[in-house]
Amino acid sequence: MDDLAIIGSGPAALTAGLYAGREKLAVSIYEKASMGGQLSAISAIENFPGAPDGSTGMELANRLREQAKSFGAQLRYGEVSSVKRTKDAFELVVDGQKKRAKAVLVATGCTHVHLGVPGEKLAGVHYCATCDGAFYKGKNIAVVGGANSAVQEALFLTRFANHVTIVALFDIMACDVLQKRLAEAVKAGKVKVLTHTETLEITGEERVSGLRVKDSKTGKESSVKADGVFVFIGLKPSAEFLANSGVELSITRNKCYVIL
Ligand SMILES: Cc1cc2nc3c(=O)[nH]c(=O)nc-3n(C[C@H](O)[C@H](O)[C@H](O)COP(=O)(O)OP(=O)(O)OC[C@H]3O[C@@H](n4cnc5c(N)ncnc54)[C@H](O)[C@@H]3O)c2cc1C
Repeated sequence: MDDLAIIGSGPAALTAGLYAGREKLAVSIYEKASMGGQLSAISAIENFPGAPDGSTGMELANRLREQAKSFGAQLRYGEVSSVKRTKDAFELVVDGQKKRAKAVLVATGCTHVHLGVPGEKLAGVHYCATCDGAFYKGKNIAVVGGANSAVQEALFLTRFANHVTIVALFDIMACDVLQKRLAEAVKAGKVKVLTHTETLEITGEERVSGLRVKDSKTGKESSVKADGVFVFIGLKPSAEFLANSGVELSITRNKCYVIL
């Protein structure tokens, strides 16, 4: 039995694993998808202490992973589907197999919120520019969202795309440095910004052909032509798997408190 089971392998989990391993605890880190969590999708890190060189998220993830491993943390692939408190420990179900640990740390991060409009299942709808942006060399892209992630990703997509249209429900609410870069991209004709614009539908037959949108001030509907749509409208905590685990859980859109 482990002293500690950590669920997730993003920067939070790997940092916890490093500390737990350094304290000589027997620790397993369980990851269902990509070791490094969201880090693995970041093209260049500019604002993480100790990573001033614009390294990729994958490079930083590898460094964190090696550091946690060097203190004895065991990194294991597997999806944790439930956590249950037993008399003397916690029981986790990992890919259908029972594992035990004296303590559990949930560091499962967040997943992308979907738009929930017709057409979202069409080919050509994406939630990660680093993963899928390169498919759109010389094409036109629509980015839905108006905060930091949407702007950062839209700017990244200009590396490939002929043109990017940002469709934001409100004003653009990104930090100053991104606003400045966005203004430059708009001036260069690479990006167009539609604010106060609601996305009603992602249009297309099998593949995306664009968006049907509505100006929320005038109520006027129009269309945006696009070969691909990237959605960045927020994140929700990945804690649903704990819902039936007898764990006290309270989830709001951006916050997740788990008490074990
Ligand atoms: C494209 C992009 C660019 C970004 N740029 C920056 C930036 O420049 N600077 C910055 O500070 N932040 C940035 N971020 C945000 C940053 O990556 C996140 O804040 C950070 O990764 C959160 O870390 P975390 O450890 O909490 O969770 P995550 O990184 O979300 O990792 C959680 C992990 O848990 C796993 N998991 C979930 N459920 C289970 C389960 N049931 N069983 C097993 N595993 C599970 C997931 O697969 C995931 O790998 C960016 C994010 C993205 C996507």
